[in-house]
Amino acid sequence: MHVEDILRKAVFCESLNFQEVELLYKDAQLSQLTLAAHELRLRKAHPEIVSWIIDRNVNITNVCCSACLFCNFYTGKNSENAFITSEEEYIKKIRELKKIGGNQLLLQGGLHPELGLNYYTSLFSRLKQLFPRLKLHALGPPEIIHLAKKEGLLPGSVLKKLVDAGLDSLPGAGAEILSDRVRGIISKAKCTTSEWLNVMHEAHKMNITTSATMMYGHVETIDERINHLLLLRDLQSQKPKESKGFISFTPWPFQHKNTRLHKKTGITANFSADEYIRIIALSRLVLNNIDNIQASWLTVGKELAQVCLHCGANDLSSIMIEENVVSSAGANYIMGVQEMEETIKQAGFIPVKRDQQYNFLK
Ligand code: SF4
Repeated sequence: MHVEDILRKAVFCESLNFQEVELLYKDAQLSQLTLAAHELRLRKAHPEIVSWIIDRNVNITNVCCSACLFCNFYTGKNSENAFITSEEEYIKKIRELKKIGGNQLLLQGGLHPELGLNYYTSLFSRLKQLFPRLKLHALGPPEIIHLAKKEGLLPGSVLKKLVDAGLDSLPGAGAEILSDRVRGIISKAKCTTSEWLNVMHEAHKMNITTSATMMYGHVETIDERINHLLLLRDLQSQKPKESKGFISFTPWPFQHKNTRLHKKTGITANFSADEYIRIIALSRLVLNNIDNIQASWLTVGKELAQVCLHCGANDLSSIMIEENVVSSAGANYIMGVQEMEETIKQAGFIPVKRDQQYNFLK
């Protein structure tokens, strides 16, 4: 099959197989890919609108027993820098969030060896008691697997208890590259590929909206990137009809500054704008059952993110107050509410604030 035939298939929302995606990745011209991806984006998402959200990333704790080689954020439980966020700090941060019109906390953190399920359910219940309309986009498959193992429960039971306590949606954290070869090198104490996928499958069966991510540009091969996309698409095709499943997909490049992965192996981020655009376009074409593709302005900068809005992406993610993990590895972009709206307008779209379920807000 020729590149043109495969692109035609993709634009008509047909599923591509591994060989077809590989051919697009390696042989298609960037202009061909982006034209096709934009055509599909115009049909899959509102053609004139680019959405975004205000949320606040609060780290529950920086203590983590995973020690991923790409992470500068974690520390040991006896470190003098170790913290667990207090109730007073949550209240202060939520009030600040509400002042600028946000209503969602992105709650993430390390895999603390001593914090059990009760800690998280009590935290979520308390936050919902204090702020009943607050949305909690919290944890991710690594935390769910960590808690399931710690408590001797199935991941589905952990999810159920967290939802009962106030969890609204589950971020696609910790996906990195869904390949056990890669995970064995960069994050070997974290959940495996099948554990990650299984948590998401359980969440979809429980009608919990999730998101999907990919951190690329370290030790993975092109084939492993392609496989990552196909695993996500195939899992999404198994979700119950009434569930939204993966509501979005966000790829971002590895940030190497000061990471142990860089120090140990010499791997640098080696970031290329062309490649990011290629990945955004391919994501749109391959993930034909995930409606929203996000450009990660936080890691690639707003100018490149604007270009991506014409290459398959329809969402600019969040203004993300207080992001700590990728920022500590070299991503230093910041953006306020007004700048986010200006950025979208300059790219030729209407900015519309949304919630985590992708409902447009006034
Ligand atoms: S990326 Fe997450 S799981 Fe890995 S070391 Fe950092 S905090 Fe821990």
